[in-house]
Amino acid sequence: MLSCPECGSDQSVKNGCKYKGKDKRPRRKCCRCGREFFGDNNETIEPGIACDRSTEVRVHGNESAVEATVFGEPPSLDELLAECKVDRSVWEVTNYEIRRWTTPYTDKHKKPGLIPCWHVKVRMVRKVAVHTEFPAVQPVQFVGALPQVPTAAFVRHELPCTLVVPDAHVGFRRDLSTGHLEPFHDRKAMDVVLKAAAYLQPERVVILGDMLDLPEFSDKFIKSPEFYFTFQPALVELAWFLGQLRTVLNTDVPIHYIEGNHEQRLSNSIAQHLIAAYAIAPAFAPKSAPAMSVPSLLGLEELGITYEGPYPSGRVWINDNLVCSHGEIVRNGSGETVKTMLSEARASEIVGHVHRSEQATVTRWAKKGPVSYTITCPGTLARIDGTVPANKSHVNWQQGFSIVYYEDGNGKFHTINLPITDGEAIVNGRMFQGVDYVDRLFADTQYEPFRKG
Ligand SMILES: [Zn+2]
Ligand SMILES: [Zn+2]
Repeated sequence: MLSCPECGSDQSVKNGCKYKGKDKRPRRKCCRCGREFFGDNNETIEPGIACDRSTEVRVHGNESAVEATVFGEPPSLDELLAECKVDRSVWEVTNYEIRRWTTPYTDKHKKPGLIPCWHVKVRMVRKVAVHTEFPAVQPVQFVGALPQVPTAAFVRHELPCTLVVPDAHVGFRRDLSTGHLEPFHDRKAMDVVLKAAAYLQPERVVILGDMLDLPEFSDKFIKSPEFYFTFQPALVELAWFLGQLRTVLNTDVPIHYIEGNHEQRLSNSIAQHLIAAYAIAPAFAPKSAPAMSVPSLLGLEELGITYEGPYPSGRVWINDNLVCSHGEIVRNGSGETVKTMLSEARASEIVGHVHRSEQATVTRWAKKGPVSYTITCPGTLARIDGTVPANKSHVNWQQGFSIVYYEDGNGKFHTINLPITDGEAIVNGRMFQGVDYVDRLFADTQYEPFRKG
């Protein structure tokens, strides 16, 4: 056994290995003066209980443990506890584990060999527990059943819901040889929204605009003859859809229809090409909506739907902190539009126009502390397969709609984007499946172009 270079004591314990650098000799620590020094790789091992720091009895409150390494003969529990000076009248053994392996060693005659090695673990508890300031961890004891707390007790209050419906671009391209009308809008996606509205029974609905595509009135794309005379079927179908929406909701549920840039094509076109007809209302109701206008042609007043225009100023505030509008900004990459809008944000917003499902939040620091603004785009209800006239054929668009739960006034809100994939949407953990409603549409309207086949 090596003696301490400081005080000469033979009593030292292993103190790990020095792994850093080349020197990998075991380290030792003097039991008397605490000096750390290097041991020897060829240290002689004496049979018996090793003088190891783990042979100490570790006491923690009402529990204690002994861990020891023993060379040569396997130790009996009594010998080990006697060696470690455990008072058996105080401690009761609860667990005793012993593990064997062999280790190379050099005996006192410098002769190398193998010696059996035993690692022993003993766990004990006090026979009479003492008070400890920090009680040892005790297993949880269940007495009887857990108290039953109704989940309703956790709910401070239920919140009203607003359903937000984005761009459907109802419109058609006519096949000039067959006369078939190919819709721009996705009837399955629109049907899912009707089903979600019936299920959610929202307190309010906000339609974000671009519900009509109006390709005939476009100044942006070439007015191809395929688009001629498609305005009437688009009006009939959208009016029918809005009537369905009104039917699944209570008559007193407010529905707001915000004007989009596509609806604006109609008034722009009249202003440009037939100024005499601009803003002309019927003689019997000169203060009503102009005759050639979206609200009047769709019969929005009869459906109890408020038209919020003109684009781009038409907007609906959900509460003091969240506003819906059609939107004016479109950036190319996914997430880029909301990112651009956040740089200027002074309120949280929900916008259509982008046809992408996006949401992002910014936190700004004011005198009172952090203020967060969230910009949300629900997506579109138009077809995303390239049918809708756009700048490119492979559009990066997503279908979906949103719901908002909110407090009134200067309150909180939670906007949730609900994607639609293959005509299906997951709402509150339930799968809703939309169908092509053209049969119902024809049955209700008897409008010949919607007859199938
Ligand atoms: Zn738009
Ligand atoms: Zn749009």
